[in-house]
Order: sequence, then C-alpha cells, then structure tokens
Amino acid sequence: MNSYLNESVTILKGIGDETAELLAEMKIVTLHDLLEYFPYRYEDYRLRDLTEVQHDEKVTVEGKVHSEPSLVYYGRKKSKLTVRILVGSYLIKAVFFNQPYLKNKIVMNETITVTGKWDAHRQTISANEAQMGPNTKQNDFEPVYSLKGKLTTKGMRKFISLAFQQYGSYIHEILPDYFLTKYRLLGRQDAVKAMHFPRNQEDVKQARRRFVYEEFLLFQLKMQGLRKFEREHSPGINQNYDMSKLEPFIESLPFPLTNAQKRVVNEILKDMRSPFRMNRLLQGDVGSGKTVVAAIALYSSVTAGFQGALMVPTEILAEQHAESLKRLLEPFAVKCELLTSSVKGKRRKEILQELAAGNVEILIGTHALIQDEVTFKKLGLVITDEQHRFGVEQRKILREKGENPDVLFMTATPIPRTLAITVFGEMDVSIIDEMPAGRKTIETYWAKPEMLERVLAFVEKELAKGHQAYVICPLIEESEKLDVQNAIDVHTALTHYYQGRYKAGLMHGRLSSDEKDAVMKAFSANEVQILVSTTVVEVGVNVPNATMMVIYDAERFGLSQLHQLRGRVGRGSDQSYCVLLANPKSEVGQERMKIMTETNDGFVLSEKDLELRGPGDFFGRKQSGLPEFKVADMVHDYRALETARNDASILIQSEEFWNAPDYRYLRSCLEESGVLTGEKLD
Ligand code: ADP
Ligand code: MG
Repeated sequence: MNSYLNESVTILKGIGDETAELLAEMKIVTLHDLLEYFPYRYEDYRLRDLTEVQHDEKVTVEGKVHSEPSLVYYGRKKSKLTVRILVGSYLIKAVFFNQPYLKNKIVMNETITVTGKWDAHRQTISANEAQMGPNTKQNDFEPVYSLKGKLTTKGMRKFISLAFQQYGSYIHEILPDYFLTKYRLLGRQDAVKAMHFPRNQEDVKQARRRFVYEEFLLFQLKMQGLRKFEREHSPGINQNYDMSKLEPFIESLPFPLTNAQKRVVNEILKDMRSPFRMNRLLQGDVGSGKTVVAAIALYSSVTAGFQGALMVPTEILAEQHAESLKRLLEPFAVKCELLTSSVKGKRRKEILQELAAGNVEILIGTHALIQDEVTFKKLGLVITDEQHRFGVEQRKILREKGENPDVLFMTATPIPRTLAITVFGEMDVSIIDEMPAGRKTIETYWAKPEMLERVLAFVEKELAKGHQAYVICPLIEESEKLDVQNAIDVHTALTHYYQGRYKAGLMHGRLSSDEKDAVMKAFSANEVQILVSTTVVEVGVNVPNATMMVIYDAERFGLSQLHQLRGRVGRGSDQSYCVLLANPKSEVGQERMKIMTETNDGFVLSEKDLELRGPGDFFGRKQSGLPEFKVADMVHDYRALETARNDASILIQSEEFWNAPDYRYLRSCLEESGVLTGEKLD
C-alpha cells in the first residue's frame, strides 16, 4: 500500500543493525509493523479502592505515613524498607526492596503515593515506586510493550514516537466513512496515536474499539468472501425433493416438530434445493432432536432421486442411528443399511453391490463409509454427526464419493456462538435452540469424594425403582502419575457393593467392538443395571430407562464434556439425576462444578467454558485453527464480532462494495489475502 510505511525501521534515527535484528525477531520490520506493534498493557496510576483490587494486581495508593520506616539490610547490599500507610481508614504496609535511600525521604504523617503489587493476604504492597505527596500521575497512562533482548520500554517508546512524528501522517484510513460515523470510531491515524500515547483510559478504550472492529470486519470479510467464492465456484446439485412425499412423512412422526426443528429443516431444504452446494453446520444440544432433522434431510434427498450417507464416530452410535432411521423410513419404502467394520463377508458384499446399484438409498456407518470399496450410484447428501471427531481429510473423502453432494455437519457440542461464527465463518450455521416440550431437567449435584457412601445409597434408591445408572470414570487403568479412579477398579468395587441385588457392567475403549456391543446390549435390555464406563458412552447412546449418572473425578472433564455425558440420562419421562464426584482445588474448578449444578443449557455452559478456559483450550490445542487478533478478543468483544459479521455479510453481497472507491482499501485487503482467487481453499 503506502510506500513510506513499507520502509525499513532502520530509516529511523537510533535503530541500527543490532536493534533492527531484535525488532525483526518480534516481527517488526517495516515502519508499518512498528506503528502497529501495540502495547499489551498500560501502566495505570489511577487511585483505586483497595477492597476492589485483586491479589497480585498492580495498584497505586495514596495515604498518610503511619509509622517510621524501618530498614533492614541483608546479604550483600540487599535491603528491605517497611512502612505503614493509612489509606483512608485502611492500614496497610508498603515494602521496598533495595531502595534504602527512601528512608530519609519518607516523613511521618505526610502524604505519600505508592505504586506496586498488592498482596491481599498480607495487606501489603510490594512497592516499586514511591513519591512523597499526592498522586501527580493520576492521569498518566503509559504503554508497556512486550520486548526481546536488550530492548527497553523507554527505547521502544522513543522509536514509536519518532516513527509517528515523522511518518504518522502516512497512515491512511481503510474503513469507509460510513462505518466510522455509524459507530463513532476513531480515524486510523488517531487510533494508532491513542494506542501508543493515550492521555487516559478513555483514549485507549476508543482506540481499541476501532481496531477491534477493523480486525473483525476484515476477518469476516475474508471468511465470507471465501464462502462466496466457494459457492460460486463449486457448483452443487439441485435436489428437487418431493414435498408431497415429505409432508406425510413429517406428519407420521410420533411428535410435532419443535419450532426450532422446523426452522432448521427449512434452512436445510432451501440449501438442498438451491444450485449451490450446501455447507452447513447444525448445532443442537444433546436431546434437542437432531436425528429426526437428519432423517427428513436424507429422505428429501431420496425423493429427489439421490442417495444419502450418515457418518458417525462410533459403532454403537451407528447402530442406534441405523435403527432409528430404519424405523422412521422403512414404512416409506426407503432402503437403509448399516455399514461398519463389523459388517463382513457376504453381507458386506451385498450391501456394497446394492449401494453401487442405487438400491440402498441411505447408508449409515462409521469410518467404514470412506473406504475405497464404498461407491454410491448418485450421492446427493452427506451428513456427519459429531463432526469434530472427524478430520478435514475424512470429511473430504466422503464428500468426494459423490459429485458435489450437499454437506451437513451435526454437532451436539454446543460451540459458543462467538466461536461458531468465527471458526465456522465459511459455513452456514443452523442452531436448534429449543428442547422438545415436556423434557424434565436433570437435577445435578456436586459431591465431595468423602460422600461416596451417600451417593451410592442414592443410586440404589433409583435402582430400586427399576431404573438404571451410569457410572463414568476418566481413565481405564490406574496411572501412577494421575491420581484417578479407574473404571476397572470402580467396576470391581460396585459389583461387590451391590452384590446379590444389582449387576454392574464394564465398558471401555480397550474392549473389542464385539465385547462393547455385548455390554451395551445387556445394559439396553436391563440385564445389567449399572454401567461403569469411560467416556466411550459420551456420544449419542440412548437408554431411556437410565435415570442416574455418577461421574468420578468430574473436575478432570471440560464443562462441555460433562454436559455431553450428563445428556445420557434424562431421556425418558422420569426425573433424572447426575452426581459429580469432585474435589477441585482451584477456584476455577470449583466454579465449573457449580455451574454444572446450575444450568442444563449446553450453550450457556459452552460460553462459560470458553470464558474459563479460553478459546485455545476450548478446542484443544491441536484443533485450534483459531484466528489470531492483535487487539480483539473473541470472547470479550463478541458483540463487536457479531456486528462486524453482519456488516461483512451485507458488504459482500452489495454492488457498492465491489465497485465504489470508498471500499477500495477493504477490497485490497481481501486481494492481498488471496480470498478473491480462491487460493486459500482446501
Ligand atoms: P440429539 O439431538 O441428541 O441427537 P435425538 O435426535 O436423539 O437428540 O432426540 C432425542 C429424543 O427426543 C429422541 O427420543 C427423539 O425421538 C425425541 N424427539 C425429537 N424431536 C422431538 C420433538 N419435536 N418432540 C418430542 N420428542 C422429540
Ligand atoms: Mg444425536
């Protein structure tokens, strides 16, 4: 863009090769980079009420010297100076290390201003700055940069100051006036200035607001530009489904669809009918009724003369889905088949032949669906359940088994809206945010491990009513490092405890799929009343007679995972319960347990999880793929994110955006990122 700002930082006085090298390590090469290297925090000298200051937080206080300072020397040249200060009606201590000269400056009963780290337990400030008299820096607000090597804050401030004085006028606006006025945003030049040289907190706030919006808008334009490109360059298929067949099918369901289900069905059908390829994420909490939505979508594809595929992560789930779909669709003469690695020999061959011939219309299965030998005659719709369990590659292989089939991803892991619209910005998102009527909420309790006896008695009470229970443990076997309960031990203990009254089954990932099947069947048939399991039961399993769940070491699970697990109960008409056995040490851990007992809403939990763990952890480090922003924070600035998203979607569709001069800078940002040529597509 602008040539001056693309000059090397060495153009500035005082930046030699050595400094330039250090700056380069911080990814600062040009003046532009330097001017946009923003402070990560500001030194804040405002006075604050000590009762509101957190432990370890930095703070400035003003008070009266309340004791003669006492000075102690230790080691070589080391000293500690302590003085009592009365701040309002609050008596605190201030300690200064290695500043013995202060002893003579600090005067009894005089006003003093001290800045340092607040130790809330000791009611003490570890001070690094003191000044006799009232706080004169009240309004100072000094930038602090994260730095490498020999670079100093002072030096950095000087470089940036020089750069801004000499070249600041070359910083040009990239946002159209329309947005600046609408949201009262600082101009770009003013915003850069306010980031580095704020007069006060308000300056920083306004500058941040501008950059948050700018970053989000650019990001959203890229995502949506990408989506637009993909839509226009990946022709899909028109699936002209037969409404006269769909309607009776929907009426045949044993229940009316919820409004949310109706809405998402419409969104999906609209995509399927359109000439573009559907690329849609369907989110719905556990039990919100995604299966029937999938069934409707699959059936509509069949009525349009296509085949459909449903891929799920586990065999158990595949079997359950196959069963439900067969039950729903076979009365309508739709041929559904199950394909997993357990389907072998002649049977397998038959299914594959019938599939290739187009006689099997809906295929349900695990990874088995993406094997080479699986060929469809005319694949129109691909659905994956629990999409985050599959890699991009696997989803792509399945998609390529047809010619531009429509694609629907389903997930019961409620992804916070904020993440959904950023991470999945290139997908359309449908949300089922309503539970079928009459669903009882699961009562959740948090119990300390020492209450185990009482918990087991509680479980027994439920068993006595003829109900069943899940007991979940984090790991299969004892590990020396992790002090966790293991499923095998717990199974042994519970078998013993309920001996002669109830039977306990054991389920974990090391069992063969035949063994897993046998256990699951026994539990389904109520031959086993208690199922001790690792998290393999997490997704999808449906045993409505189970009303009780106990989760050992619950603090080891994320909130979303706990919520998923809990969703195994509460599937029938009886009241269900979930007990979290946990002894979290940290405050965050305790808060997480508390939240579980307070809400049954997966979206609320996921937002909370995101807040407590941060976006990186939320998906696990590997899967991150999350965009990095310089200023913006997806969690805290989510309102701005939504605004930017709406603005971007309007822009992308407008003629003006692609032509008007006012938008040229935004357009050039898209060009630079390769979105317009589709370079960034997989
Ligand atoms: P999930 O979204 O977790 O996959 P399911 O599709 O398994 O949820 O549905 C959970 C249960 O709710 C099933 O027993 C299903 O039959 C039932 N269900 C689905 N939709 C409705 C509805 N609109 N009214 C009543 N029950 C419904
Ligand atoms: Mg499901």
